Amino acid sequence: MNCTVCGSDSLEIIKAKGKKSKELLLKCEECGNIFREVVDVGKPVDRRVVVSEFENSHKTFIKLYEDEILHLGDLIDLDGREAEITSLENKRGGRVSKSAVEDVETIWASYTDIPARVGISIDYGGRILSQKVEVNPDFEFTIGEVVKMGNIIFRINSLKTLERKMRKGFARASVTKRVYGRPVDEHRFKYDLTSKVV
Ligand SMILES: [Zn+2]
Repeated sequence: MNCTVCGSDSLEIIKAKGKKSKELLLKCEECGNIFREVVDVGKPVDRRVVVSEFENSHKTFIKLYEDEILHLGDLIDLDGREAEITSLENKRGGRVSKSAVEDVETIWASYTDIPARVGISIDYGGRILSQKVEVNPDFEFTIGEVVKMGNIIFRINSLKTLERKMRKGFARASVTKRVYGRPVDEHRFKYDLTSKVV
C-alpha cells in the first residue's frame, strides 16, 4: 500500500473495520494525507475438528482465516454450538498450545453446553472401583485433594488428560479422561461427587 498523493509506503492505520475484507483509514506519515483503502484478508479455509461428546467423537469442519491464532481453551462455534478447543495438532504432527490456522492440521474440541463425563478409578490395593461422573466442563480436579463419592473418601493421586498422565497439578474436567485415587481414612473432604455419579 502506498499513499495516494506522494506514494510513500510509511502509513499509519487510524481505523480498521470489517472481517472478510478490512476497510482501513490510513494516514501517510510523510505528507499527512488521509485516505481509505480496502484490503482483502483472504478467504476462510476449512479445518478439521474432532469434537467429543461424552465417550463419542465425530468429525466436522470449521471455516477460519489462515492468519487467525488459535489457543487451547478458545471457544469456537461448531454449527451453532459452542465448543472449547482442548487440543491442537499442527501440520508437523505436534501437539501445541497455540498455532496460526495455516499451520493447524486438526482441532480437538468439546461442547461446552453439556457436562464433561469423567472416569473415576479408586485403587483398593489392586482391586479397582470404577465409576463415571458428570461435572461442569470448567470444574477442576486437583491432585492431592480429598473427595467424597457415595460412602467412599479418596485422595486424587493422578489424572489422565487427553494428552498426558499427570502426577501433580490440576486439570479442567473438559480435558480430563480419568481421575485416579486411593481410599483414605479421613472424614474431611474438599467436595462431594455423589450426586454427579452417572
Ligand atoms: Zn503521502
